[in-house]
Amino acid sequence: MKKNEKNNKKLSNPEAILWLLKPLRLEMKQGCTDRAVAGGIGKWLPLVQEKLIAQAFLPEKESAALLKPLQGYVTDSPEERKVKISAIFSSVEKLGTPTAQSPSEAAPAVEEQPKEDERVTELGMPVQYLKGVGPKRAGYLRKINIDSVMDLLCHYPREWQDRTQLSKIHQVKEDEHVTICGKVRAKQTFTIRRGLNITKVILDDQTGQIAATWFNQPYMRERFEEGQWVLAYGKVSFSRSWQIMNPDFEILEGSSEDQIHTGRIAPMYPLTERISQRVMRSMLYSLVQHLPTHFPDVLPDAVVKDQAFPAAKVAYQDIHFPPDFPALDQARRRLVFEELFLQQIAVARMRVTYGRVLAKALQTQGAKVTAFLEALPFSLTEAQDKALKKIFEDLGKPHPMHRLLQGDVGSGKTVVGAAAMLAAVDSGVQAALMAPTEILATQHYLVLKKYFEPLGITLELLTSGVKAVEKKRIHAGLADGTVAVLIGTHALTQEIVAFKTLGLVVVDEQHRFGVEQRALLRAKGEQPHTLVMTATPIPRTLALTAYGDLDVTVLDESPPGRMPISTQALAHGQSRMAYEKMNQAAQAGRQGYIIFPLIDESEKLDLKALTREYARLEKHVFTDKSLGLLHGRMTTPEKEIIMAAFKSGKIQILASTTVVEVGVDIPNATVMIIENADRFGLATLHQLRGRIGRGRHASYCYLIADPSTEEGRARLRIMCAVKDGFQLAEEDLALRGPGEFFGLRQHGLPDLKLANLIRDAAQIEIAKEHADRIIAKDRELELDENQALREAYFALYQDRESRARVG
Ligand code: ADP
Ligand code: MG
Repeated sequence: MKKNEKNNKKLSNPEAILWLLKPLRLEMKQGCTDRAVAGGIGKWLPLVQEKLIAQAFLPEKESAALLKPLQGYVTDSPEERKVKISAIFSSVEKLGTPTAQSPSEAAPAVEEQPKEDERVTELGMPVQYLKGVGPKRAGYLRKINIDSVMDLLCHYPREWQDRTQLSKIHQVKEDEHVTICGKVRAKQTFTIRRGLNITKVILDDQTGQIAATWFNQPYMRERFEEGQWVLAYGKVSFSRSWQIMNPDFEILEGSSEDQIHTGRIAPMYPLTERISQRVMRSMLYSLVQHLPTHFPDVLPDAVVKDQAFPAAKVAYQDIHFPPDFPALDQARRRLVFEELFLQQIAVARMRVTYGRVLAKALQTQGAKVTAFLEALPFSLTEAQDKALKKIFEDLGKPHPMHRLLQGDVGSGKTVVGAAAMLAAVDSGVQAALMAPTEILATQHYLVLKKYFEPLGITLELLTSGVKAVEKKRIHAGLADGTVAVLIGTHALTQEIVAFKTLGLVVVDEQHRFGVEQRALLRAKGEQPHTLVMTATPIPRTLALTAYGDLDVTVLDESPPGRMPISTQALAHGQSRMAYEKMNQAAQAGRQGYIIFPLIDESEKLDLKALTREYARLEKHVFTDKSLGLLHGRMTTPEKEIIMAAFKSGKIQILASTTVVEVGVDIPNATVMIIENADRFGLATLHQLRGRIGRGRHASYCYLIADPSTEEGRARLRIMCAVKDGFQLAEEDLALRGPGEFFGLRQHGLPDLKLANLIRDAAQIEIAKEHADRIIAKDRELELDENQALREAYFALYQDRESRARVG
């Protein structure tokens, strides 16, 4: 069996061949423009041929034959090139079929077996070919996205345990984690009962004895010889005698043997099915021992010098098997920087692309923009004014705008977006506004209709709730251009929706959408300008990453005359206080919300509880007030009727799920009661609370909860103390960490493995500076000095870039 496996490895392996020919696939993707490899396919041919022989074990003659069609590639037309590449792939396929090459035929052809070390030097090679891995383990590794040797090298420890301090056996205490070094005195396996046996290896260090113990692993006995010295690490326990259950161990055979698991700072890896900590550690140890001599360095020399980073190879060795903790810190510092740097390269490339792409410049001083701004019942705040100027500046340029308008709840983003849309209309192109909920889309539609229709603009509302006939009419109007402005939900991204000329895309509450949705909508125009609006305040360093490809404008000012919101946390037993305030407010002509957390709007049970609670409030609490109920399961017309009645004041108190979380704007509402408030995150609570305090009356927010967790209590405390969205965001970060922070996952960049956007914030700025400089000079990373960077970057970002390109 084993022999067979080895034999197979020597055969030309279609999988390895395909991997080596990967650039050809990229070349196809890029339309055969000969840009897939630096220097062109022609220059690449001899290199790949060598690799085919050395790594895929394809005999020289055959590898030459395989690549032959590619000769003269540089002068071929893209069509000819496509034919040639296809031909190559089909010959590889034939190689894979047994008739083309049976093992017996192939075996003699391979005489020279590559040396192990040579094989390891290819970081891009499939991990399977790595010593100690093989196809089986490679299969399990693939499940945690480790495909290449480099992927494995970047499989960083989740922690490092200090196992450098040896304990004397007579000093160990129960429950302590210790490393001990002892001589094997005896070994035994007992059967305790059927199906349960225990193996003990007694270790002695002259101060005492301790047993290394394993359950149901009798073969462990065979691993040790009496008289051997053994290092063992684990948790100490005592039952009749001292023992360490399932220790990590190392047999010290000779002084030259390296210690991997014990007696050192030991890496602890995230694991996967069938791969133990021990195996993972051994694979990585073997890998870092055999890193190529000329290890590619993705960082420019200047950066390495400037930051006093250790060499790349050293950093990779030390992050896995640090000789000491300062070395680990240095390694980590460098690799964190590399991660952030690659991310900033991605961001910088996006920006440069935007700058090169042409778009229709819009007329921003047109009749409709002017009329709209004049008709507003208020004057713009200074912040709005500035933001609009910035946006108009962008729109007037022949390159697509990519701007983020960030402003806390109630800061007045909608008018800014509306003015931008009118610039599109004035320029004879269409504008689309996408909002995350039907309720918000409808509200935008109603508000904008009031302003736009008198200007002779046709606007339509498109949500999934719109009737089929209506939809048809809208689709037709969009296609022939009679509909100038389209407002709606993600229904806008459906394939059937097609514009005549979409010139501007506005995305409201961007954090509710994924990057893909934004991209889908953008793809409906030819490089439309894009304005994304969000109330999600993001600390600057996060913005550099999350929205690094966007220019950011902040609305840091509320419209004048806003009254503060006072926020109070109440136990369920104290709800009456909140109800009273609500009654008073309604008496005085104000309105209010009562919010219920539904875990799942589609759950019948939850809905039933909500209806029951609503009936109770109506019957026993707000007896003489008019109440309305709103939730996500209602039909579009039902929702519309309720919202209209609330808007007009017919409904005084709106009981609702979080469907009103974002964007809803009823300035007369001044009281909000949030039931079971501890179930919501800070971001949601802040958004919900943002529904009140939008008018000229004092507002009150009550958080009703009996929180059972410390985090729940912390959230309520923070909500009561902090009003400012930016500050809340910082608190949220501190509480939850950046991974979950306000939907940051959606930014479309790969997850960071080592870097932490908070802790390593200072590095982001430095990484950005360097990335910008490099990309400004060499966007395609074609220069020789950027070769290593180019390879690392594309390995990580190629797919993401091609996906993002839609947008
Ligand atoms: P958000 O930024 O949360 O989307 P909106 O655009 O919904 O905020 O605006 C909140 C409220 O403030 C709306 O009722 C809007 O009409 C009003 N508003 C916007 N700008 C001003 C202003 N400059 N002066 C007075 N009220 C304004
Ligand atoms: Mg809004």
